[in-house]
Amino acid sequence: MTTRWLFGDQLGPHFVDDHRGPLLMVEARSVFRRRRFHRAKAHLVLSAMRHRAAQLGDRLAYVKADTYGEAVRDLDGDVEVVHPTSYAALGLVERLGCRVLPPRGFATPREDFERWADGRRGKLLMEDFYRRARLAHGVLVDGGDPAGGQWNFDHDNREPPPKGATTLGVSDPWWPTEDDIDAEVREDLDRWERDGDVQFIGRDGDRRFPATRREALAALDHFVEHRLPEFGAHEDAILEGDPWMAHSLISAPMNLGLLDPLEVAERAEEAYRSGAAPIASVEGFVRQVIGWRDYVWHVYWHMGDGYRRENGLRATGRIPQWFAELDGDATDARCLSHTLDQVATYGWVHHIPRLMLLGSYALQRGWAPTQVTDWFHRAFVDGYDWVMVPNIVGMSQHADGGRMMTKPYTSGGAYINTMSDHCGSCRFDPKVRVGENACPFSAGYWWFLDRHRETFEANHRMSRAVRGLDRLKDLAELVEQEDRRGNRAP
Ligand SMILES: Cc1cc2nc3c(=O)[nH]c(=O)nc-3n(C[C@H](O)[C@H](O)[C@H](O)COP(=O)(O)OP(=O)(O)OC[C@H]3O[C@@H](n4cnc5c(N)ncnc54)[C@H](O)[C@@H]3O)c2cc1C
Ligand code: SF4
Repeated sequence: MTTRWLFGDQLGPHFVDDHRGPLLMVEARSVFRRRRFHRAKAHLVLSAMRHRAAQLGDRLAYVKADTYGEAVRDLDGDVEVVHPTSYAALGLVERLGCRVLPPRGFATPREDFERWADGRRGKLLMEDFYRRARLAHGVLVDGGDPAGGQWNFDHDNREPPPKGATTLGVSDPWWPTEDDIDAEVREDLDRWERDGDVQFIGRDGDRRFPATRREALAALDHFVEHRLPEFGAHEDAILEGDPWMAHSLISAPMNLGLLDPLEVAERAEEAYRSGAAPIASVEGFVRQVIGWRDYVWHVYWHMGDGYRRENGLRATGRIPQWFAELDGDATDARCLSHTLDQVATYGWVHHIPRLMLLGSYALQRGWAPTQVTDWFHRAFVDGYDWVMVPNIVGMSQHADGGRMMTKPYTSGGAYINTMSDHCGSCRFDPKVRVGENACPFSAGYWWFLDRHRETFEANHRMSRAVRGLDRLKDLAELVEQEDRRGNRAP
């Protein structure tokens, strides 16, 4: 009889449904020993795996072992596994002689992406991929045309936070209630840490993300009913009093395999069709779920295992201790301090703090992309190799020479000041780039451009910004200031 081995991110029914034989799940301690993960992430993954094991009962052998290999080698008979989500895991199952089934949990099949990419001569525009996916899956499509008359509502979805508001005022996200399995996980993690076996970053706290299919569906329903209508307009905005804004918080359950992206997109479409949510919000959300998420998955495989080591900007700096340890108190830069503190508490912040604060700071300071990838992977509850490598190497650190994104995502303090309420209570001034009050992002932006002048002068989306360097009378002073500051917490 063939055993199907389920990895810890293959926890939904679609990873089992066609299989009638025995099932195996392995809780490998070595995974936690190798890397210092966020405590909330370790808790979520173990809780989700153990909940799934409890549901599947006698059908599933739940093996606690030191390594995957030792658990799988002892099995009688053949072993099959749905295509794992990392190069390392794929290599392992191949070495162990497992039969690998096609991937699940993504909307577009690998072959379709590769066929599309073949005809693109290296220009892998997400927008084109996404429109094809909408047509292929019939999502938000009316007889071949986009629902609502447009493919893209980005223009409506980039509003700054509402003036004077401290929160968006939408209902709170759905929160889980912990149970005995969570209590057991907490005890185990405390013990492992006490024994010096495993170390974590971040704080322990109530589990915030779904660990079962039932919880994931409840979270999705709650989001679609109460928060999706507001998703679009302020998607990119940041308010200190409202960490969640109108985001869905479903990356973690989707990446654990508890929800399938097509069911999520279809659920959102229903809300539009029934008049419960406006097209701009629904399109903006569907774009993330079957556009960006799938695109990133395919880029991971398309670029090959070596992609993670690309370093087109030759950034070799080390992540400083204060940042690595999520120490928000170490810095006076209000935006960084607040964001690091949120990561320490939840293991989650939304897309813009990841991209335009944490990622942008790493890019400006010239930290090695491999280190940045590893840090994000460990610090975020939804971080997995497939999603982190393209988001860091391609999107946030522009380390692939622009193969994924045509220009780097970084900015001075002016952008942060427009899109957030951080700057008002900061000791730095976003308009000042040199001197005591110089905003580290405003100075860092020009410092970064100056270091890479030659690379970006030839990029038509960056050449204007590069020419701006020549208008800065205080550039030499700025460069000296930032050379001195380097990795010291601002
Ligand atoms: C530097 C950086 C690191 C990131 N790391 C991760 C990560 O480890 N895991 C992860 O799932 N997402 C990652 N993202 C993408 C995105 O920030 C998160 O998916 C999102 O913030 C999760 O919150 P949410 O579920 O409320 O998302 P929403 O804003 O509600 O968006 C809906 C869904 O869209 C998907 N999505 C949107 N953009 C992306 C993207 N670029 N890559 C993959 N999925 C996307 C996610 O599944 C998300 O749940 C990263 C982005 C950046 C810039
Ligand atoms: S002034 Fe600069 S450092 Fe301070 S919050 Fe604004 S962007 Fe961040």
